[in-house]
Amino acid sequence: MAVKIFIDAGHGGPNPGAVGNGLIEEDINLSVASQLADDLRAMGYDVREYRTTPDENVISPVAADLRKRAAEANAWGADYFISIHTNSSTNPAANGFETYVYRLGSTSARLAQSIQNAVIAALGMKDNGVRQANFSVLRNTTMPAVLVELGYLSNPTEALNLNSPAWQAKIAAAIAEGINNFVSSGS
Ligand SMILES: [Zn+2]
Repeated sequence: MAVKIFIDAGHGGPNPGAVGNGLIEEDINLSVASQLADDLRAMGYDVREYRTTPDENVISPVAADLRKRAAEANAWGADYFISIHTNSSTNPAANGFETYVYRLGSTSARLAQSIQNAVIAALGMKDNGVRQANFSVLRNTTMPAVLVELGYLSNPTEALNLNSPAWQAKIAAAIAEGINNFVSSGS
């Protein structure tokens, strides 16, 4: 049986996420998540996506929506959960790629490190490393789970990249490579 990967495009529906430099987080997340799903399917993975359109599946309030995302992955029996987000800061100089897990030193953290390695190698972004966070989708999923922050839309240079279809395809491919490197290493 193929390894099952649940892809969560962050935000959507009534919750756009971060906005800045003319960009809306929910749109970037969906575009990269959709390409990641395609890339993983091409590698032979069984992929399910929480949303494939701006509003699909999304409910209010946000806390219930986040629980629903984790519950769907749990009910499906996903082997891995990947949530795609885009970062923002009040400091326009803030930049770089980072991943979040519920616990450092876990299987999730090793998967996150593999994603981190592949993205930094492919895109040359600042390496903000694997970080710990008590995010709902990480806390409530029962399989290894990683939340990816693609870059800072509040940073003018990264905003240009985040809005570029070619760059989106490149980072999606790098995330897929990082996941595949981890899974195929037998971890
Ligand atoms: Zn977000």
